[in-house]
Amino acid sequence: MAAVMGVNHATSGAAVWLAATAALPAFGTDAYPLAPAGVLAGAVVCAGAALLPDADHHSGTIAHSVPVLGKVVAKGIGDATGGHRHGFHTVLAAALITLLAVLAGRFTAEVGPLGLVPIGPAIATIPLIAFAVKARELVRTWSSAWGVGMLAGAAVVLFSPDNHAWFPIAVGLGFLTHIAGDMLTVEGVPSPLWPFTVRPPRAWTRVPGLRAVWKRNGYIAVPVLGHAGSARETVLGAFLGLYCVYGVAVVVSRAIGHPIDLA
Ligand SMILES: [Zn+2]
Repeated sequence: MAAVMGVNHATSGAAVWLAATAALPAFGTDAYPLAPAGVLAGAVVCAGAALLPDADHHSGTIAHSVPVLGKVVAKGIGDATGGHRHGFHTVLAAALITLLAVLAGRFTAEVGPLGLVPIGPAIATIPLIAFAVKARELVRTWSSAWGVGMLAGAAVVLFSPDNHAWFPIAVGLGFLTHIAGDMLTVEGVPSPLWPFTVRPPRAWTRVPGLRAVWKRNGYIAVPVLGHAGSARETVLGAFLGLYCVYGVAVVVSRAIGHPIDLA
């Protein structure tokens, strides 16, 4: 059962992050001040995290990331969570992954002139970025994807924002964006209450329109994109890609002191 294509998941993760960080100043809060480098780093981490749920699939991007080990990890996650688009495509999984990211974010070390270095986020960024650039086909081979991942990990060490909230927020947001994206297809995603499956009553499943939204197996869908890999999905992916280009342009323009203002 094919899912939303990896490239569109990665794009939607970056787009959601850019939209969220762009919206924060509008709230007039100083809670998460992010320098431009932090916004860009977060966008790529969020894009990488938006590929993570498909780690439960033996032919997904992540399964191919490392010879043998990638497939073993994918099979392990798939088996542990009940197969593709099952327990790893749930709010519970998003919460656990975010918790892991919080723990990784706490792993810091004082390193001479660099000051406090976010070791955990830097290490976790390496595979996330490798997945993201490979899914977007920005690089051809996995070895170059891992190379870009390591550069990104180094960039996190050098440029990451002083607050440590950005990393778990980017990871959690990316993971949830993936689940939301899969929910827009006919196949849908497991109940938000998973591991508890709530099935609709028999009368409900007799009505095709209702059955498409809350399925016999308890899955939930808002199938506006049709089947995975549809033309509609391609159009939405392209639109989100344009939004990312615009968002990055805005961030860079602010950084160089010539802010773009289309409003
Ligand atoms: Zn998926």
